[in-house]
Amino acid sequence: KSGFVAIVGRPNVGKSTFMNRIIKEQIAITSPKAQTTRNKIQGIYTDDERQIIFLDTPGIHKPHNDLDQYMDKAAISALKEVDAVLFMTEAGEQAGPGDKFIIEELKKVKAPVFLVLNKIDLINPDEMAPQIDEYKDLMDFAEVIPISATNGNNVEDLFDTLTKHL
Ligand code: GDP
Ligand code: MG
Repeated sequence: KSGFVAIVGRPNVGKSTFMNRIIKEQIAITSPKAQTTRNKIQGIYTDDERQIIFLDTPGIHKPHNDLDQYMDKAAISALKEVDAVLFMTEAGEQAGPGDKFIIEELKKVKAPVFLVLNKIDLINPDEMAPQIDEYKDLMDFAEVIPISATNGNNVEDLFDTLTKHL
């Protein structure tokens, strides 16, 4: 099985940490200039059964000016071409304005969107239940997947879940 996957989320949720953990083969270098690349392949994860290609989509964020708005349109159109989207946020944290803005944009995307709750190593699992309820009210996510990008907890399960949808 193979597919294209984009990772989105506000700054600091752990997107880069996650990418660095899973990418076994670096096939393209990220641009040093933020948000200048379009649909470039950032990396590829392969094992015996699957090949998952991660796309370096530009950040989606609340637009502050016309250029930002243009950038956001490009980011959203990039998401139209992927097979799945990982929307990452921090486990145990309520949705903030940055999260909510991205979620509104993700509602326009046809591909399944997975809610990835990262940094589970920092919280007690009980703290996730109210957060998951809150997020499910905001959007219909294909699956909710708690992980820790730093210690690798549940990352294999994320791949298995993702693979089911490819
Ligand atoms: P990005 O802005 O979404 O790319 O976030 P980064 O990958 O740069 O991570 C932001 C910060 O969160 C860094 O200090 C990471 O070390 C930390 N971080 C990322 N993932 C985890 C995690 O699973 N657990 C913990 N405790 N910290 C994490
Ligand atoms: Mg980053």
